[in-house]
Amino acid sequence: MSQTPSQKNTRSRGSGGRLLILLLVLAAVLWALSRGLKDHEAPPAEAEASPTAAAAVAPAATQPPPTPEPTPGPPAVDVTSWQLRLIDYDHPLGEDFAPPELTQVADGQSMDSRVAPAMSALIADAKAAGYSVYFCSGYRDYDTQYAIYWNHIYEYTTQGMSEAEAHAKTRLAVNWPGSSEHQSGLCADILESWDQEMEPWIGGSGLMLWLEENCARYGFVVRYPDGKTDITGVEYEPWHLRYVGQEAAAYMMEHGLCLEEFLDLYQVG
Ligand SMILES: [Zn+2]
Repeated sequence: MSQTPSQKNTRSRGSGGRLLILLLVLAAVLWALSRGLKDHEAPPAEAEASPTAAAAVAPAATQPPPTPEPTPGPPAVDVTSWQLRLIDYDHPLGEDFAPPELTQVADGQSMDSRVAPAMSALIADAKAAGYSVYFCSGYRDYDTQYAIYWNHIYEYTTQGMSEAEAHAKTRLAVNWPGSSEHQSGLCADILESWDQEMEPWIGGSGLMLWLEENCARYGFVVRYPDGKTDITGVEYEPWHLRYVGQEAAAYMMEHGLCLEEFLDLYQVG
């Protein structure tokens, strides 16, 4: 059956109207969708504040690494000079060594005359900062070190330790005669008061903290730092200060290096 023109026109108008409605609905849906997406977008500031959101935007792997602070190298010091001499069991001073000249500093203790003024200044400033300061031990000659060492061995063996055990325990705190820094006159044991115990736990507070933070200004370092026993062979001694000169001291204390590590920086080849 053939269609009449009027029937055709009506049908055309009807399908045109449906298309218009469809387009309007589609436009409405698109508009609603775009509104919905906008509502779900977090404000830019919030996205930056949230580490998770920031990570989602820019993965950590693609972020440029932070620019490292330029660190100047070790100071130009003569590591063969007297104040940087390494003194330990493998590098002993020997039985006959004595400092060229000694000067009394405080509490009956003396030091090498070249470093005594620096220690006097340190003690004066620590007192001015409000601490009681007791100069426990400075220069010790070979015979004194010998007596201290063997007294420890006697004490420990009397307590029931074997000779080997007694030596192992003694060496953590007392250097073998001839290999103690105290024989050099370049070091000082400084305590807060005359009865303060020489134990690692006194570190990190009171005068011990002040010494750690200020000793480098006078050319001294905490010679046996915490956590370096495997390198120095000596337990943490926050009270034992060793003169190395201001430049070396500043670098060592700032970078947390013990003398062995500092000297290693200058090894050639
Ligand atoms: Zn000491």
